[in-house]
Amino acid sequence: MFSVAIELGAVGTLRHYRPLPVSPDLRGYAGEQSQIRAAVGTEGVSITGLSARYCPTGRDIYLEKVLKLETPSWPRSVIGKVVDPVLVDLHTIGMDQLDDAFEKSVRTGRAVSFRDLETNIITAAEDAARRRLLSEWTYPGKHPDFRNLTLDDFAERMAGEGGADLIANTLAAIVDLIRHETKLLIAYLRRCRRGRFGLGYFTPSSNWMAEARAALTRLQTGVTLDNKRYPARVFGVRNGVCPDFLYAVTLVGDLKTGPYEQFHEGVAIGYAIFAEFALARRINTAFILSIDLDLTAGKLRSHRIYRIRADDQQRQRWITQRDSALTILRSGSVPPHPSDLQRCSRCPYSHHCWEGGYPGTTPLLPAPHSPAASTAGLP
Ligand code: SF4
Repeated sequence: MFSVAIELGAVGTLRHYRPLPVSPDLRGYAGEQSQIRAAVGTEGVSITGLSARYCPTGRDIYLEKVLKLETPSWPRSVIGKVVDPVLVDLHTIGMDQLDDAFEKSVRTGRAVSFRDLETNIITAAEDAARRRLLSEWTYPGKHPDFRNLTLDDFAERMAGEGGADLIANTLAAIVDLIRHETKLLIAYLRRCRRGRFGLGYFTPSSNWMAEARAALTRLQTGVTLDNKRYPARVFGVRNGVCPDFLYAVTLVGDLKTGPYEQFHEGVAIGYAIFAEFALARRINTAFILSIDLDLTAGKLRSHRIYRIRADDQQRQRWITQRDSALTILRSGSVPPHPSDLQRCSRCPYSHHCWEGGYPGTTPLLPAPHSPAASTAGLP
């Protein structure tokens, strides 16, 4: 996640750290009487699950959380599970390689070879990505028709004879992502070495290495925010509150794959609020690293970092969303089909709601563990 560390920590990014006036009772660390807290003991939903709602009546939340219906698909079950660990691997590998290159430069008195560094990082990160995708992936859910499926078998279920191409294009797109992130890192290091005003700092004793390293290592991944002292349930969210990244203990964010959606902002705000609670810090800015892979061309389609100010309006919206989700979960009955069917065609639950998966035909009552699988998002 070099792109994130550079965007959040490089020179000229002070705007991310500007103070933001927020109502005291909308801060995550506000007292128990604050509206930001949920009723204790509530069955929680993940922070993503709270915001990622397609259905106007909230039927999708009920089908997923209460009836435990799964909607296996390539984008959700493979891309959504593999890209995050691939980027965490890349960051670890990159930092190790960078430290080696810096030490070598100081020891030998020669300038860092950016070309060698880039090649070494890409080679090691591609190997790690191959392992993650081709050797280690098995179907991550409990759906009886898919449990423990290998990547080859799952690809065949999703794309039939095109399964092998689907795997090859997925790997190619991930490799393209690794190269893109690594090039951003190398460009950043070159800028650091040139110095802020374009002056050359070519002696190995210059501070540019230390500055670059400090900016990159402030990024933390794999952080779990909730624990016994700061339990997730006080906000009505599920245990295991793990934002994809935390930077300098004041900025928080999540990685999302696929096209950017408006609801991603709600996910970022949810993490900001919980981080304020767990870290007892003001978190004014949250981020989404949005990555979209083109599985037809085997390329990175888009890569962008969105910045979201955690202001009162965003926090109120999150509370409303959270309370609505908890009401639906506690209702004890499946919410009705909506009158506006616009969302149904893109919704992963269409096979559970409509005969043949065609919105507007015969409405279906849900059956647990229906074998329907979504191919939404496939080329
Ligand atoms: S398919 Fe339509 S009715 Fe069913 S959950 Fe999705 S949006 Fe709601």
